[in-house]
Amino acid sequence: MKDLAFYDGYSSEIDNMTIPFCDRAHFFGDGVYEVAMARNYTIYALDEHIERFYASADALKINIAYSKDELSSLICSLVRRLDSDEQSVYWQVTRRYGDEAREHTYSEGAQGKLWVMLRPSKIKDIYNPVKAITLPDTRWHHCNIKSINLIPAVMYAQKAKEQGAYEAILYRKGGRVTECSHSNVHIITSNGVFKTAPADNMILAGIARSHLISACRSLGIEVDESPFTIDEMMNAEEIILSSTSGMCMVCDSIDGKSVGGKNKAIADAIRHWVMTDFIEKTS
Ligand code: PLP
Repeated sequence: MKDLAFYDGYSSEIDNMTIPFCDRAHFFGDGVYEVAMARNYTIYALDEHIERFYASADALKINIAYSKDELSSLICSLVRRLDSDEQSVYWQVTRRYGDEAREHTYSEGAQGKLWVMLRPSKIKDIYNPVKAITLPDTRWHHCNIKSINLIPAVMYAQKAKEQGAYEAILYRKGGRVTECSHSNVHIITSNGVFKTAPADNMILAGIARSHLISACRSLGIEVDESPFTIDEMMNAEEIILSSTSGMCMVCDSIDGKSVGGKNKAIADAIRHWVMTDFIEKTS
């Protein structure tokens, strides 16, 4: 198949799929999701994505009809049905709707609807630096939940695109940098420390972020998981953005000003570590 959609036990090519009108995704965005990358029909960091998926679903009390092992096996079997061996692997669960078409409250215990979407895709080129803009972070305070409510992220990403940038870096009142529209952001400080926002409710703790931390630990680079400000970021030795599809993107321009570029050796070493890990684990 060229691509695949799965909904509540039924699967087809994406264009053939229809979704029940009353699915709570439509009225409330009442669901959580994951995105992983597959190469050679192997899903990279699947266990980590599965763990985060269940944690997000638990936080919203959405029940998943499968055990973690069953869900992993199901997704792996769907991945094998595509022609392309390099894929973006998306899945989400939405809360099961009741008799009332659009009622805010819900009955606990009902099993959610599982959606899966598979499309041919490759990881992004991580060897060319990217540009970013900054924007105030006006989102809710549950950013640790990977909710399908992504309208703020859509607005930020669109503003970045309109200004020719890859990402929008977000900051809260007082100048604390949180994350980006669809990536985490990290800095290398003047004393060679990898600094990344703490994994609290102000950010989504990225799987790629955890790989960057592993890279640093194995390379002997000190890691500091504490908040940093816009000023610290603008003066940092390097600024790195990370996400599942763009595992380690060096940022060389923020709001039109040149930034980073002062410790290429560290940035290169981290990038090399994560890319090697991806290649090895999907070979
Ligand atoms: N932060 C936000 C808001 C995101 O939406 C994402 C990815 O979608 C990330 C961070 C990066 O997470 P991951 O590395 O798991 O892709």
